[in-house]
Amino acid sequence: MSYDINNVFAKILRGEIPCQKIYEDDFAFAFPDIHPQAPLHILIIPKGPYCNYHDFVTHAADDAITGFQKAIANIIHLTKAEEGGYRLISNSGINAHQEVPHYHVHLLGGRHLGPLLVK
Ligand code: AMP
Repeated sequence: MSYDINNVFAKILRGEIPCQKIYEDDFAFAFPDIHPQAPLHILIIPKGPYCNYHDFVTHAADDAITGFQKAIANIIHLTKAEEGGYRLISNSGINAHQEVPHYHVHLLGGRHLGPLLVK
């Protein structure tokens, strides 16, 4: 799968689409999901052009992979998500219903999130 430079998250990273920045460092950028599924629903994206988790971990530099994981941990701390518990989700491809083809992690919390999957 080749990376689409015109996907919505690429446009957010380039500042072409507005968002409410929650966090930014050298490796990651985070903002609220436009259609929140829980009181806490943040999208965390790497700054590089990767389509999904496998693309990112296979092709990104080690410092980018480590930096992205640490950014997620920083955002969990920043949002106090650990207090009630949280869920991290990353969808990839058709079966997972991935809508935006730029690797992203959903951070969800603020309410009981129910079982892992809706049957
Ligand atoms: P996924 O199905 O994992 O690809 O999730 C993509 C998410 O991006 C969805 O939850 C959308 O609500 C969210 N989304 C799409 N466009 C925007 C936007 N401009 N700003 C914030 N979130 C967005």
